[in-house]
Amino acid sequence: MNVYISATLRNFFGRNARLETDAKSIKDILNWLKDEYPEAEKVLFDENGKLRSFIRIYAGDENRSSEDKWEKALSEDSEVLLLPAIAGGAPENDSIIPEERRKAVAFDDKEIERFGRHLMLKDIGVKGQKRIKAARVVVAGAGALGSAVIQYLAAAGVGTIKVVDFDDVALENLQSQVIHTTRDLNRPKVASAKDIVRNINRGINFEAENTKLEADNIVDIIDGYDLVIDCTDNYKARYLINDAAYLCGIPVVFGAIYQFEGQVTIFNHNDGPCYRCAFPAPPPAGLVPTCAEGGAISPLPGIIGSIQANEALKLIIGIGDHLSGKILTVDSLYLRFKLLELKKEKECLLCGAHPSIKGVQDFDYEDFCGLKQPEEEIPIEGFTPEELAKRIENEDPMTIVDVREPHERAIQRFPNAIVIPIGQLARRMNELDPEQDTIFICKQGMRSILAINTLREAGYKGPMYNLKGGIDAMKDIMFSHEGAWL
Ligand SMILES: [Zn+2]
Repeated sequence: MNVYISATLRNFFGRNARLETDAKSIKDILNWLKDEYPEAEKVLFDENGKLRSFIRIYAGDENRSSEDKWEKALSEDSEVLLLPAIAGGAPENDSIIPEERRKAVAFDDKEIERFGRHLMLKDIGVKGQKRIKAARVVVAGAGALGSAVIQYLAAAGVGTIKVVDFDDVALENLQSQVIHTTRDLNRPKVASAKDIVRNINRGINFEAENTKLEADNIVDIIDGYDLVIDCTDNYKARYLINDAAYLCGIPVVFGAIYQFEGQVTIFNHNDGPCYRCAFPAPPPAGLVPTCAEGGAISPLPGIIGSIQANEALKLIIGIGDHLSGKILTVDSLYLRFKLLELKKEKECLLCGAHPSIKGVQDFDYEDFCGLKQPEEEIPIEGFTPEELAKRIENEDPMTIVDVREPHERAIQRFPNAIVIPIGQLARRMNELDPEQDTIFICKQGMRSILAINTLREAGYKGPMYNLKGGIDAMKDIMFSHEGAWL
């Protein structure tokens, strides 16, 4: 069975995080630990031989700290955890901030007052706070995750924060993107990000990049910074950030959310794994809905983004255990947090032994992420929202097929459409009339392309069209034609 040792106790157990023993009860385990690690006895037991009260013993989820539970047999696959009630001093790590930059930082009286709650922490102190002020951090994405990350970095006193986002604030963003408010509608997201940072601390050097990350601009945007925090929402940006940051020697704090689930990890740090080691390729375009299509519960990005900010600060200060080589998965619906191992892959195209990606300009991210239509295939024809609206008004004979998932339709029904979720298309194609035009619709016009390709492969011969830009692009027309055909 495995015995897990909490980080603050490890020094007494040969620095081991996990020990294996064939002991059969808590009592056996404690006796075995005393024999194997004599120096641990004084930390586990007081002078009367009683378990010290700051240590709890768990078998699985069950608290077995009291002595009357020590003889009870444990099953072979039990996991026993020694958990100190008070987590003591955090181990010191290397900071990602160069010493000469830390030494160049000074504080005025106001700053000493402002950051007092950090300065009083033994593991942060003046030295740590100087590293925070010296830090130069890029936040990619000023959406839901970025909202939490940007606010906490600013509040913590990160000296330079650069925010990259090309989007404007839309009403549907306000459910979770808490740095934007109703009066920011239609403004660039970087503008409201700037306002919030200014409101927290005018002393922060805020840099805005109102642009989309691409292979030809990313190196200029991130080079020379200490850390990139990936708060984006699409695969292309994630691979691009991972690759460029690795090639520039910058670690990445990665966060992602979908519906009720989230992930946090650190890439490219201390020879740890990169995003490609973890996920060598993205799913085919359109197969997995993005967060924008799938939605997410409002506080989830706050949870994940706060953990990202916390990991970022630990890397900057140089303290604690962090998520390099590990991925934290959060299931907010059942409140399960899991820490899973991530390994660096020898065969990784970017950071492996024989890398083939030497520069982001040489790699086709659009193609890799399935955002390009292969040229050899028959091009997919589509209608603009205006064209489709006209055809509906003219009552042209045609079938409109909504391929979205049920929860998406519940938010916004598309009139005049029959419903076939994308996974059922091939076996239900006899419901379509090959003599008639069929128009496929989804939220953003990507899954409808996948739907058409799926039916082509299944041998469907009728004329098929895509609604360009999906229902999102058609919203304005749908609302303005409400009386006519909704
Ligand atoms: Zn890698």
